Amino acid sequence: MSEALINKYFRPGRLPHIWCPGCGNGIITGAIVKAIDKQGLAKDDVAIISGIGCSSRASGYLDFNTANTLHGRALPIASGLKMGNPKLHVIVVTGDGDASAIGGNHLIHAARRNIDLTVVMYNNSIYGMTGGQYSPMTPHGAKATTAPYGNVERAFDIPELVKASGATFVGRGTTFHTLQLIDLIAQGIAHKGFSFIEVVSACPISFGRQNKMGGPAKMLEWQRDHGVMKAAWDKMTAEQRAGKFPIGVLYEDNNTQEYTEAYDELIKRAQGGK
Ligand code: SF4
Repeated sequence: MSEALINKYFRPGRLPHIWCPGCGNGIITGAIVKAIDKQGLAKDDVAIISGIGCSSRASGYLDFNTANTLHGRALPIASGLKMGNPKLHVIVVTGDGDASAIGGNHLIHAARRNIDLTVVMYNNSIYGMTGGQYSPMTPHGAKATTAPYGNVERAFDIPELVKASGATFVGRGTTFHTLQLIDLIAQGIAHKGFSFIEVVSACPISFGRQNKMGGPAKMLEWQRDHGVMKAAWDKMTAEQRAGKFPIGVLYEDNNTQEYTEAYDELIKRAQGGK
């Protein structure tokens, strides 16, 4: 990232960050900043709300309206903020454990409401900060400190979960496909409604070590070799898809009313006595 972007969007007093060498969190946070810059948004018009976990530290490093909140509770706080000031662009920074485990109920209901938030879920496939326990996004069979013989649970297909819950923009990117990731986040911010972007990331220190992934560069190569552009994915057979995942815009619906707009109409109706 250029020095100009760092000086403009990061809080100098909070750097250097605490993320491990080779972690994907910096790539995703950089992509969020570049997407905001690409959209030409004023810093005062953006809020970054996070929960708890490695990725949620990002809100402290970024120089916008920010709040590092409670574990799994970024979405209700972000929803309240958006209701109070619908003009704000509210971006939620969350990890896979934060969003899909303790915050899972908030996730499905925020999606159901189609409230205009942009959720960027850093998916490192594990609870990194708290000691490498498996999360609802840890792949079946993968190792974690709480699954030393392999995870017997199946991971969520999180894009399908949020789509079924009512999200109107769903995308998936990786920390290898960085230009596409910037574009995806920018599209999510521009979309009027609940946007969810899963980012397949690398946690070389916890998930990578326990699963012998071979270090940060090898983990990026894994993303390159397993992420398939949506257009190509749509033409693949079930055998060709095995073990891989689609990336890009997975779902978009521009015809469903956004929540704060619907609520505003309700207020006007109530004030008019109807
Ligand atoms: Fe990144 Fe994993 Fe280290 Fe957390 S534990 S900062 S996710 S490498």
